[in-house]
Amino acid sequence: MALEDFRADAMRCTRCSYCKWIPFSLVKSWEFSKGCPSVDYNNFHNYSGGGRLLTMLSLMDGRSEVTDQVVDIAYKCQLCGNCDVTCKVCRYDMEPLAGIREFRRTLNEQGHVPATYPAIIARFRESGNLFGVSQARRANWADGLGLKQLGAGGVDKTEIVFHAGCRYSFDPSLKTAVRAAASVLKRAGVDFALDSAEGCCGGKPYDMGYREDFVEMAKANLARWSAAGVKTVVTPCATCFHTFTRLYPEIGSTVKVLHTVQLVDRLIKDGSLKLTKSVPMTVTYHDPCHLGRQGEPYVPWNGQEVKIYGQAVVYDPPRPRYIGAYGVYDAPREVLRAIPGVELIEMERSKEAAWCCGAGGSVREAYPEFNAWTAGQRVQEAKSTGAEAIATACPGCEKNFAEAVSADGAKMKVLDVLELVEQAL
Ligand code: SF4
Ligand code: SF4
Repeated sequence: MALEDFRADAMRCTRCSYCKWIPFSLVKSWEFSKGCPSVDYNNFHNYSGGGRLLTMLSLMDGRSEVTDQVVDIAYKCQLCGNCDVTCKVCRYDMEPLAGIREFRRTLNEQGHVPATYPAIIARFRESGNLFGVSQARRANWADGLGLKQLGAGGVDKTEIVFHAGCRYSFDPSLKTAVRAAASVLKRAGVDFALDSAEGCCGGKPYDMGYREDFVEMAKANLARWSAAGVKTVVTPCATCFHTFTRLYPEIGSTVKVLHTVQLVDRLIKDGSLKLTKSVPMTVTYHDPCHLGRQGEPYVPWNGQEVKIYGQAVVYDPPRPRYIGAYGVYDAPREVLRAIPGVELIEMERSKEAAWCCGAGGSVREAYPEFNAWTAGQRVQEAKSTGAEAIATACPGCEKNFAEAVSADGAKMKVLDVLELVEQAL
């Protein structure tokens, strides 16, 4: 793709501003009606999905040039995808989110990136992960769990591999959640192995616009899985899930991917997991963007853009439309409802209308104040439900909410769904 491939979208944008809100049919109150953290925080049209398309068009037409402000507009966005969902309620065939990603890739290739990016990508290239920690320590989180290892003196083959991801592997504050996820699968008798040579999924470099780094990381993972006979990858990380399901197929992956909440939902339903202990708690569930509205299955498309009567742009054959409605919404909710004692209370903005945790699109790394503000907004919404805990299914969301709850002084617990499952076993 190239920026020019989004010219039709940019020209078709009617500046209606619908992408600044959640779909109007889902609005329950003025307080929680906004959908785009970026335009809400920056309070200027160019920071919305439509505003970014407008900025791209101006650059393509040579009416403006890349300034620090343009760089800020391109990257101060969580790539949460709310604009993609709301735009498609009224429009056909527009892809604001894909356009913003291409905007970033183009600027990145020209050397225009936020100040923190060079150090971050250097860490990825030197150590193979976001944190710059030795890869030899990647599986330390699983010490003492007695899990099967792929490679490093363990097994040579496995049909199911457990991919923890960088955050779970190296952030000690998230260790309880990832250990719970692996322990629950083991208790259910799932025959899986950890990958001793697990590499970063590449999702973060992709979002930062470092497309070649992403391809390199993806190919390394796919080659190792292929050699080991892996048929299914199970991950507790929503970002890895999205990367494997939506981005890897673009470079030829056919591996089956499950988020741990999907697998655990099946294990509860087929009787492999029996939740017997009561966990009395009111819980509100936060849909991670990468598992929810961006967690829809990949649909291959190899068509072309054509013009009717030299005017209207259409796609032949029709392009798949990712509208956010078919993300992974039911599995985490059904798992929570299966836990004795848990009462699930929905936030006003849920499923495809969920407000982002703030961490997406590398905003956590590049714009810490904006990241914290966005997470704080979601914590206020969670508090308004009266729930005792926020449960989620993504390490980025969990980390952000834990910090935001602490900053707020709220009494809420922040948990992964599978931590609650483990308590119920
Ligand atoms: S991107 Fe879509 S929703 Fe946003 S202003 Fe343009 S047409 Fe409207
Ligand atoms: S991806 Fe999210 S933060 Fe970025 S413009 Fe769209 S709605 Fe706003």
